[in-house]
Order: sequence, then structure tokens, then C-alpha cells
Amino acid sequence: MSDCLFCKMVTGEIAPDVVYEDDDVLAFRDINPQAPTHVLIVPKRHISTLNDLEPDDARLIGQLSLAAAKVAAQEGVADAGYRTLINTNREGGQVVFHIHMHLMGGRRMGWPPG
Ligand code: 5GP
Ligand code: ZN
Repeated sequence: MSDCLFCKMVTGEIAPDVVYEDDDVLAFRDINPQAPTHVLIVPKRHISTLNDLEPDDARLIGQLSLAAAKVAAQEGVADAGYRTLINTNREGGQVVFHIHMHLMGGRRMGWPPG
């Protein structure tokens, strides 16, 4: 999608700080980190929100979690623990409409989240 920020990261039009990449997934550091480790994991194919998932996307969504576990290990937060989450639409706090999984670690997370 030509006017999507994260699609531009995927094509390289904008160069993020990439921490992991494979054929289907790209992971890069959040520009405004909310924890010592704050990485965004996105499918390379544009999907706007969790509400737009089709049954055929099940594997792709699983790949986001698999990538998160790899990045957590790489970042050294896997054993201490970390949080993954996907914000959806207005009340979920989504501001970029290309599905992304947040991975945050390196500090103790509060619960419930704000
Ligand atoms: P959302 O609120 O949609 O779940 O999360 C969007 C995230 O994208 C925010 O944490 C925000 O800091 C991050 N973000 C917004 N613009 C950019 C950017 O240009 N580069 C990077 N690396 N992250 C961005
Ligand atoms: Zn996109």
C-alpha cells in the first residue's frame, strides 16, 4: 500500500533500524520506545488491522509470534520476560494501520496496561 508508513519500511523507501527479517516478516525498533527494548514486528504484506484477517492469514499471524520470540532471545529479554501486544482501532490505541506486534522488554511491565 503506497501511502502506508510500515509498507515503506518493508520496501526500504524509509529505512528503519531492523533487528530481524525473513521472507514474510520485518522487525524494527520503535521510534518512540516505551521500554529499553521496544520492537515492532510487521507482516511484509499489508493488512490494516486484526479485524481484516482472513483464515489464510493464520500462518502469517503465527509468524509474528515466532519472530517475537527470536527477537526477545536476540535482545536478551527472553528469560526475564517481555510483553507482546497488538493494538486494534481507536480504543485499542492503534495509530498505524498496518498490523504490528509490539515487543517490549527490559523492565517490569505494569498490569493492567493503560
Ligand atoms: P500503534 O499505536 O499503532 O499500536 O503503534 C504505532 C507505533 O509506531 C508507535 O509505538 C510509534 O512510536 C511507532 N512509530 C510511528 N512512526 C514511526 C516511525 O516512523 N518509525 C518507527 N520505527 N516507529 C514509528
Ligand atoms: Zn502497510
